[in-house]
Amino acid sequence: MTDTEFDYDLFTIGAGSGGVRASRLSSMMGAKVAVAEEYRPGGTCVIRGCVPKKFMVYASGFGKGFRQAEGYGWSADNVSFDWATFRDAMNAEVDRLSGIYSRNLANAGVELIHDRAEIVDTHTVRLVNEDRTVTAKNILVAVGGAPNKDWDLEGAEHTITSNELFHLKKLPEYIVIAGGGYIACEFAQVFAGLGVKTCLVYRGDTVLRGFDEDVRVAVHEGLKASGVRVITGTVFEKITKDEDTGKKTVFLKNGDELIADDVVFAIGRDPYTKGLGLENVGIEVNDKGAIIVDEYSKTNVDSIYAVGDVTDRVNLTPVAIREGAAFADTVFGGKPRGYDHDTIASAVFTQPPVGTVGLTEVEARKKYGQIDIYKSTFNPMKYALTKERSPMLIKLIVRASDDVVIGCHMVGDDSPEIIQAVGIAVKAGLTKAQFDETCAVHPSVAEELVTMKEKWTPPELKAAE
Ligand code: NDP
Repeated sequence: MTDTEFDYDLFTIGAGSGGVRASRLSSMMGAKVAVAEEYRPGGTCVIRGCVPKKFMVYASGFGKGFRQAEGYGWSADNVSFDWATFRDAMNAEVDRLSGIYSRNLANAGVELIHDRAEIVDTHTVRLVNEDRTVTAKNILVAVGGAPNKDWDLEGAEHTITSNELFHLKKLPEYIVIAGGGYIACEFAQVFAGLGVKTCLVYRGDTVLRGFDEDVRVAVHEGLKASGVRVITGTVFEKITKDEDTGKKTVFLKNGDELIADDVVFAIGRDPYTKGLGLENVGIEVNDKGAIIVDEYSKTNVDSIYAVGDVTDRVNLTPVAIREGAAFADTVFGGKPRGYDHDTIASAVFTQPPVGTVGLTEVEARKKYGQIDIYKSTFNPMKYALTKERSPMLIKLIVRASDDVVIGCHMVGDDSPEIIQAVGIAVKAGLTKAQFDETCAVHPSVAEELVTMKEKWTPPELKAAE
């Protein structure tokens, strides 16, 4: 396949989830492929995102598990947690996985170049440290995103982001986290579960904006039940650091002051396009700096494509992987196809976690007017014998006109596992009647999905009836 006019058929910038999948598949389809990675293969998900975060969620969950076990007759006296032991084990596993990414690239015949690459022209990239240029018929930008900091804030240099949380020298006694999205909520509960005094500062009133309202309230209350101090309606004003003790003082706009060991910004992530040379070829970006692409992930420049978080479509690892696969099929497989971003199930690994797929109640009412809601909140059987409670929420959104289930939202243990299966049913457009025809698995929390009979009416609509 190799076009002798160029060094490569494909040059991918970024060996994260999207870039690696696209590169491997393209190579297996006969293309000559190189991928440049300036840090370590694996990208955000493996190196500083989903994977180590999930280990932290597991580590944190054991504390609760020991307390629950007491309700079942176990004695959990004298349990203790050693951050350094856990941290080193977690990072060793990350190293192992990054190595697998490198080997998988090699096994697929992809050349991995450990360097930063920047775009020079429509078919040329410059390898910055090696100080040489290479040419490619196609360039794929898969550089992902990076966490934001409010650099205008006085004392911003005393803050960290999720990137650094996996490498803390010691477990903080007190941590303050700004934000109310995925990362802020997940880490607030991780640290609270590890026994750290944790404070979340969110500018809104209820965390997880954009999620179903019932989910938001459940997670918000769950944070507080886990011992997280949640301060809403305000933001940081400035941060100072005591050079002797290393402690930071966070001054909030509402007048509060918090003294913390670590102060974390979890206020969103932006596409990592700075210095990439996009302007050299006139690649169009949106106001966040995300690369604008068509349904085939092609930019406005014919030879340059982009997949994953750098395009800010749906910023999730499995989505980047699917976009990468669709790119390979389109450009090298002779099967042009886009990836359908509709109805993607996802999870938030709070404790308890969230599983969600499809439209929220608000979105569904706006789009279809008439909808039916089925909602169940209950204390799962596991907690019948424990002092702590961890309520489960299961909510189905059904389009009234044809009985199709168009949304499912869950908060409670195992929700991410359950929502993966529900996602198949919702993506397939199954009806509530078909859910109900499915026999329950008993005793389980998920059986509520097929046993909810009563429609739920919001109080304001009930009053109007
Ligand atoms: P999110 O976009 O989820 O949340 C950002 C939060 O920061 C919001 O609560 C937002 O408030 C707040 N915020 C934004 N700007 C400011 C500011 N200047 N000052 C104070 N607060 C601010 O971003 P995250 O960083 O949590 O996560 C980034 C992305 O990573 C997610 O969108 C998701 O795609 C991905 N991710 C996915 C995970 C998963 O699948 N489980 C886990 C972790 C990350 P407001 O609500 O008012 O806008």
